[in-house]
Amino acid sequence: MNNLDGGHFNNTYSRLPDYFYTRLDPTPLENPRLVAYSASAGHLLGLEDTPGTRETLTLIGSGNRAWPGSEPLAMVYSGHQFGAYNPRLGDGRGLLLGELVNTRGEKWDLHLKGAGQTPYSRFGDGRAVLRSCIREYLASEALHHLGIPTTRALCVVTSDTPVYRENREAGSTLLRLAKSHIRFGHFEYFFYSAQGEKQRYEALKTLADYTIEQHFHDLEGMTAMAGSDRGYQLFYSEVVRRTATLIARWQAAGFAHGVMNTDNMSIIGDTFDYGPYGFMDDFNWHYICNHSDHSGRYAFSQQPDIGYWNCGRLGQALVPLFDDVELIQKALDQYPQIYTQTYTRLMLDKLGLVIGEDKEEDAELVRDLLQLLHDSRSDYTLFFRTLSHFSTNQPLEQLEKQLEPLVNHASLAPWLDKYRERLRRNPLDDQNRQKRMKQVNPKFILRNYLAQQAIEQAERGDYREIDNLMNVLVSPYDEHPDFEHYAQKPPEWGKKLEISCSS
Ligand code: AMP
Ligand code: MG
Repeated sequence: MNNLDGGHFNNTYSRLPDYFYTRLDPTPLENPRLVAYSASAGHLLGLEDTPGTRETLTLIGSGNRAWPGSEPLAMVYSGHQFGAYNPRLGDGRGLLLGELVNTRGEKWDLHLKGAGQTPYSRFGDGRAVLRSCIREYLASEALHHLGIPTTRALCVVTSDTPVYRENREAGSTLLRLAKSHIRFGHFEYFFYSAQGEKQRYEALKTLADYTIEQHFHDLEGMTAMAGSDRGYQLFYSEVVRRTATLIARWQAAGFAHGVMNTDNMSIIGDTFDYGPYGFMDDFNWHYICNHSDHSGRYAFSQQPDIGYWNCGRLGQALVPLFDDVELIQKALDQYPQIYTQTYTRLMLDKLGLVIGEDKEEDAELVRDLLQLLHDSRSDYTLFFRTLSHFSTNQPLEQLEKQLEPLVNHASLAPWLDKYRERLRRNPLDDQNRQKRMKQVNPKFILRNYLAQQAIEQAERGDYREIDNLMNVLVSPYDEHPDFEHYAQKPPEWGKKLEISCSS
């Protein structure tokens, strides 16, 4: 009957009380076509990449066939959007199809984005357009292969069903995989919306216990403490830790999420709900990737603070579960230190430096470099990749020449001098250091203009550029001599693309 056998469904979320969701099926799209399929994500489910699999996924992705064993539902949640609380969000254009257990016993949420209207659609049409599906598809696979926790993307399907934004566009879907689709906003919903103390406590406890059982039961000490203050503190501390670590990874990679509303924050610390994100080309602390973010709330430099603020909103929503609310504050207080430690370690890795005696000096080296890159708006990815080739016995002038097209700044030479000095005290020899640097400084990132080119071609019905790009995105640290052009700086037009929330 289909090519998707092998796994079975264990739909745990659909067994929660019915006020957690609304059951409904996807609304079919007309004349569906498969735009992209990630064999690497398919592998997670144990799928074979055959024409039959692709055909079946086209039908499932367009809502024209049910995945046997799925029990589609729209989750209810709320959240803080741009700092203001919105009491009722929920899956307005996506459905959790179910939880598929593969033959290795690993469970994956299948979520169909763009599946049609739900009770939470408010004024929206429940649909997603092709460009936003391709953007999420490319970015989530790109981040995963950079080693950054993220949801995954199985496939993109488009159709003849019209969707109206500024223009008429093609109704499309993205089939997303994640270990969990629970957001900070799920907890906020029950904290703010439950009728009365008792119901509020019951709902939050049910949700927290479920989340812990599904995703946090392995934490050391959890078995003994589950259901108590200390158990909830352990859970919340871990969410804080994962969030701080995730954002440190974004910062080190030069990735801006763009819409860090609490409904877009994953409880398991994945990069979640891609919208107007951006990988930075030229380094700029104040980079704002979301054209609709007029105040710069989600500017690149703000992300670590926003992560902290968002964790605070989650902590607030967990208050009813605690007798001693100080425990929440204590867990939250760990955020700045975890963030800074992780970020510093990642940046030192990028410089090929093993943490030494003088931590303050190393932190200064990183700070000075970032200031230099910011002042000269240097290409962040190319700078670190070029630096990865540096040998300590190479004349400094030679390296300066290589970096000149990237960094136009009088302070480059003094910085390089300091860096070389520091390398002399580094326990790694040149060869080892270069190798390690190339494993953490990607040659290829998903530059905005590359995504844009793939989208424009796909909108004309030619999907090949998506697969071409995927060739480098799945191993971004390798050389790929045939795809050298994807590693270049963007053309001027490619730096000025305006991406906003309307998708
Ligand atoms: P997002 O900006 O994608 O994170 O979405 C924020 C909220 O708006 C979520 O509750 C979405 O389900 C909802 N939403 C976004 N776009 C649509 C749409 N086209 N139709 C219905 N709901 C939508
Ligand atoms: Mg969202």
